[in-house]
Amino acid sequence: MRAEGLPDFRDRHAVITGGVRGIGAGIAEMLGRCGARISVVSRSANTARKRESVFYADADVTLEADVEAAFDACRNVHGEIAILVNNAGIAESAPVTRTSLDLWNRTLAANLTGTFLCTRAALAEMIAGKWGRIVNVASTAGLAGAAYVAAYSASKHGVVGFTRALAAEVDGTGVTANALCPGYTQTEMLDRAITNVVKYTGTSDVTARERLAQMNPQGRIATVDEVALAVLELLDGHCNGVALVVPGLTRA
Ligand code: NDP
Repeated sequence: MRAEGLPDFRDRHAVITGGVRGIGAGIAEMLGRCGARISVVSRSANTARKRESVFYADADVTLEADVEAAFDACRNVHGEIAILVNNAGIAESAPVTRTSLDLWNRTLAANLTGTFLCTRAALAEMIAGKWGRIVNVASTAGLAGAAYVAAYSASKHGVVGFTRALAAEVDGTGVTANALCPGYTQTEMLDRAITNVVKYTGTSDVTARERLAQMNPQGRIATVDEVALAVLELLDGHCNGVALVVPGLTRA
């Protein structure tokens, strides 16, 4: 079923990584309303609450064999992949002096290497089909630095750089690749960030939330729905190589 006023993706198969909760779940729901056949890939895909008609494949996006097997499984159920939203990611904060090599490596692996592996697993069929849409969920931390998130910010700058290089490579093939750069958005990831600020600074939950909101372009916390709607903008058009900040300066 497709809801009125939304893009028509009834003949498209969309894979959303990390689509079991938070921003990814919002994107999966929105794409479902556009009529797309939906596959969700994450480590806990099959233990998560399942939605009818969505195919769930377990995979750790940092592992090449997992990704290849999961994408094959998605293809077997819903056909060739035309839309890929690389949303799976992790965020941990620490000053650089206390950033362990392990934290650094797992952040780059989940956010950047995972984006590369999933893109590579779907790209050839998009090019062969002369139509494909890839949206990589980066962050405003992929465009500007901030204290205590060096690994996260480096990984998201990497996602934006990867997207721009990919966009140049697919130019003229019918495939587009764009990055989405949300500011702080109300999900479990944000709640964990606020808990950390409270723990390390001793400030109240309300003040911590307000501080993070002030770091967003509009001075407020974004909603999953507005991030998901921005993904639709990138999927529905022809722009290629864009890094779109959401929420932007006006409310839709
Ligand atoms: P959540 O922590 O709520 O969800 C993260 C999702 O990623 C989960 O579905 C998780 O599923 C999946 N995931 C994490 N690691 C892996 C992995 N190695 N392999 C497969 N799946 C994985 O985060 P959000 O919804 O808040 O964030 C989604 C994306 O948006 C992330 O890339 C994040 O960096 C980005 N973002 C978030 C912002 C925010 O304020 N919330 C702001 C800007 C960007 P599972 O545990 O089942 O693997």
